[in-house]
Amino acid sequence: MEQVEPTGQSSRLKMVGVTVMLLALTAAAGWGIYAVPAPVVDRMLESDLRESAMQMSRQVESHLSDLNATFRFHALTEHDEEFLELLPKTSDIYRVKLFEASGHVFWSTRTNDIGTVNTQPFFQSVVAAGGLYYKHQEKPITEKDSFDPDHAGDTGLSSRHVAEVHTPIIKDAVFLGAIEFYSDIADLRNLFISRVRISLTFLSGVALLALTTVILIVHRTNRRQVRDLRKRAEKERELMDEQLRLAREVRLLGELNEWLQSSRSLDELFEMVSRFMTHILPESEGSVYVYSNSRDVLDGCASWNGGAHKAHIHPEGCWGLRRGRTYEFGASEIDFVCEHAEPHDGRPYFCFPILAHGETVGLLHLRAIEGREDCFNKSRKLAQLCAEQISMAIANVRMRDQLHDQSVRDPLTGLFNRRHMTETLRKSISRCQQTGAALSLIAVDVDHFKKFNDTHGHDAGDMVLRAVGAALEQGCDRDEIACRIGGEEFMLILPDNSPEDAVTRAEQLRQAVEAVAVRYGEKALPRITMSVGVAHYPAHGTIPQDLMRAADDALYVAKDKGRNQVQVACGTTDPAKRAGPESKHPSTDAA
Ligand code: GH3
Ligand code: MG
Ligand code: MG
Repeated sequence: MEQVEPTGQSSRLKMVGVTVMLLALTAAAGWGIYAVPAPVVDRMLESDLRESAMQMSRQVESHLSDLNATFRFHALTEHDEEFLELLPKTSDIYRVKLFEASGHVFWSTRTNDIGTVNTQPFFQSVVAAGGLYYKHQEKPITEKDSFDPDHAGDTGLSSRHVAEVHTPIIKDAVFLGAIEFYSDIADLRNLFISRVRISLTFLSGVALLALTTVILIVHRTNRRQVRDLRKRAEKERELMDEQLRLAREVRLLGELNEWLQSSRSLDELFEMVSRFMTHILPESEGSVYVYSNSRDVLDGCASWNGGAHKAHIHPEGCWGLRRGRTYEFGASEIDFVCEHAEPHDGRPYFCFPILAHGETVGLLHLRAIEGREDCFNKSRKLAQLCAEQISMAIANVRMRDQLHDQSVRDPLTGLFNRRHMTETLRKSISRCQQTGAALSLIAVDVDHFKKFNDTHGHDAGDMVLRAVGAALEQGCDRDEIACRIGGEEFMLILPDNSPEDAVTRAEQLRQAVEAVAVRYGEKALPRITMSVGVAHYPAHGTIPQDLMRAADDALYVAKDKGRNQVQVACGTTDPAKRAGPESKHPSTDAA
């Protein structure tokens, strides 16, 4: 991921740098504009004057009547003199001198100069050697031949730029002498310099403007790029955070799923849900409800993260359950508060109906924790996924419960079957062996049931068996269980019942069954009775088989004695000495 430094300060520093650079460039340009033109113009003028000097030399050579005579013997005709005097007037030059080869001035526009000697070394080394000598210098204005003191104030200058040129006169490869002239280049020089300066100023201005524009464009482009980079980095960071959050959620959901799938009961499942939901959705408090068996209410099963569940809620009081889909309070302009969410303080909440195999089995209720409403609203999708996981887990536990029920319960009466009874009896005996608690076993057989079936039909018999089963189950307390062990035979395990209590309970059950009235269609079926045998641990057996056989034996005694009565097994585990005619219990006798 790209890292972008905060640019506020560095951008200001850059701007200062650029401004300093532009100022430096402007200063350099100013210096250049001031300093560069003079040498350039001087070189230009030098080249120009050299050219003029060559032309003049040719002019002199061609106009003088006898060059040799003039330079060797100072012989000048009237015409020659006229020509020479005209020279300053027909060109930009003034002060013309003619030298002989030795350096003596033999003619000059200034008579004072005649007779002077040019002793400077350049005369012999340069001019006498055929070279042109050029010298540019500033001279006092008074030295100028045409100096007019009346107009000196015009320019206000006390000196003038003057070019001094010595041109050799060579004939037939012999150095005859030289011509010297002065040219006032001040005006031309100033004009050229000012023109060059104007051009340079213009060009520098354009260049600086172009440079400033380029810098501005580059600066803006850079700023835009930095902004874009920062935005991209921010987006990438957000994406990364989102991915990390999603990865965490997926991991937690996976873990939740794994734990929920391994839960063996709804209680265990809701315990896990509470623990996990606190981690997965820390911004919401929650509760979970499950339909009661009667399906008229939902029972509160668990709550977490500060949430509270009610003992029961009505399905009509929840908009999620009523509409059969997720209800999101706080998502639209008009909302109605669910009954179970009262008292309500305006915080947003979700109601997710919990579905198992297409059937609504419960409700997951999540409410935003105060101050975390924003996070809560964003967690809807995750909450939905959790609700689905919980739904699946409840469906699994229910299915497992149903399969378990099918394996341990009798389908006709809903009571436990023989296998489960044997298993429970074994466990109960084992517990009694450890704790020394009492345990009784009651065996029940409906009297003359074959005859009942034959008379009223098998269906009517089934109804009666169901009614008997319900009466027996109702007669059971907390840990007591009633089982149908086959046909019209039942057994009840009564832990913590002394022999006396067990006989009393058996008699109560006998009376309860005797009181059962069953209607079959239009007609009321006749009452049925049952015979009951009671056995105790450890008096009548210390293993399930012995105890069951003892209870059965007592039951047969009851049958023998005329049915519809309770008999207790005889006080030994020896089958030979078990309940017989002599062990008749006085409690009940069939009429
Ligand atoms: P006793 O008083 O000696 O117990 O006589 P009984 O007729 O009850 O005894 P028996 O063992 O001869 O008959 C049991 C009858 O129970 C036979 C059968 O018709 C009936 N029975 C067994 N299972 C069912 C059942 O699931 N439904 C119905 N309707 N009848 C059943
Ligand atoms: Mg029977
Ligand atoms: Mg019977």
